[in-house]
Amino acid sequence: MAGHIAFVGLGSNLSGPRQQVWQALRALGSLPRTRLAAQSSLYRSAPIGFLQQPDFINAVAQLETALTPRALLDALLDLERRRGRTREFRNAPRTLDLDILLYDGLRYHESGLTIPHPQMHLRAFVLHPLLEIAPDCTIPGIGPAAEALQDCPPQQLEMLDDDPP
Ligand code: ADP
Ligand code: MG
Repeated sequence: MAGHIAFVGLGSNLSGPRQQVWQALRALGSLPRTRLAAQSSLYRSAPIGFLQQPDFINAVAQLETALTPRALLDALLDLERRRGRTREFRNAPRTLDLDILLYDGLRYHESGLTIPHPQMHLRAFVLHPLLEIAPDCTIPGIGPAAEALQDCPPQQLEMLDDDPP
């Protein structure tokens, strides 16, 4: 396997969010030419942006993959669709959100795909689980993820002591 390292952010706040995230972690490990190298704990986070919705469950996965960034994104969007993901409005509740956070040390921008994920350095619900599995991680164009976490807006976030269902 040509070992690119990709970090994927997972989020859900509908239809059994914990189970959605556990299932998605398993599904990531079953993608073609891809291995699940590490996974964070699950976290519960308060919604941001649109507040009248349930708390989110979040996690971050580290993948070793031979998929290109575009092929990986297509695979993630396909997994979202299979979990019944719809897009009603920005920051709407969702059964499953899968974002490419980082891909090697790449900076990449084309229609529908930006790497690093443009908001990741502003989101505690991304940075906390990311730092759990990659404490020395650097965000290309931004800097150390640990510094981004210190600078990002405060958010209610709780690490869960959760076992797979
Ligand atoms: P968000 O995750 O910001 O709540 P969506 O999941 O609805 O929003 O994503 C909207 C679009 O963002 C996707 O259709 C995808 O094409 C695009 N996108 C751009 N960069 C990325 C990335 N790094 N990871 C995932 N999606 C991305
Ligand atoms: Mg998304």
